[in-house]
Amino acid sequence: MKLIIHGGFFSESSQSLETKIAKQNALKRVLTNSYEYLKTHTALETVVHAVEQLEDDELFNAGIGSQIQSDGKIRMSASLMDGKRIKFSGVINIENVKNPIRVAEKLFNTEDRVLGGEGATVYARLNKFDFFNPEIPQRRKEYEAKIGSKSLGTVGCVAFDTNGNIAAATSTGGKGFEVPGRISDSATTAGNYATEFCGVSCTGIGEDIVSGSVATKIVTRVSDGFTIEKAFEKTFAELKVIDGFCGAIAIDNKGNIYHLDSHPSMVYGSFDGKTIEVFQ
Ligand code: ASP
Repeated sequence: MKLIIHGGFFSESSQSLETKIAKQNALKRVLTNSYEYLKTHTALETVVHAVEQLEDDELFNAGIGSQIQSDGKIRMSASLMDGKRIKFSGVINIENVKNPIRVAEKLFNTEDRVLGGEGATVYARLNKFDFFNPEIPQRRKEYEAKIGSKSLGTVGCVAFDTNGNIAAATSTGGKGFEVPGRISDSATTAGNYATEFCGVSCTGIGEDIVSGSVATKIVTRVSDGFTIEKAFEKTFAELKVIDGFCGAIAIDNKGNIYHLDSHPSMVYGSFDGKTIEVFQ
């Protein structure tokens, strides 16, 4: 069993040491209890469990604490992918729900598995996801000062369970100040992808991640026989050509855990059952 999570990027210049410590502690807490959870649940169930907790922590830009778009509204995106079944579900630009990843989970066993905008919000209400305003005062202040894009804090998780299944989940409040209707990478296969061979979750500038097709490329390369290191190396080299901004986490079906970022520092943590590694 293996687990890796991320909480977006951390900026030394605009965020305090207290915030850094709080993020490290949050990652340790989520890793520890999600690893316990993984002992009795599938990889798919576990990535939802981990991402839900990160959405519930206002330190991160997903669920409560999401960034505000240029028209003053919060719209969130989240997705889920099961490696063995090669099955993806997601919500794009959903409004006023507490846990977008739970709505993506609800869609996982339906026919129309990716819903966007008003349709996603209506679906959530019809399925008993209560109205919840995810805005916190700090985000409103950032919105008013127009510094939202400095705190990219998307969250994600990749898990490898006892039966060798891999799953990936990602959730975001977006870049901040985006034009309403802008689509994040987080609920696309560029930002969140898995096969039976590998799973990847990304954070960074969505436009770069989609242009670089990051998660899809890494996973496909591992599925075609690349080592996880080589798959990251080649994909990030291609991203460099467009000066892409991205961080990614991954696990392959041999249990190798990997992460890389184009512009350090991505906030991440991993647990292999023995040692917790958290970004420093
Ligand atoms: N990837 C997200 C987006 O572009 C932002 C982030 O990772 O923080 O919407």
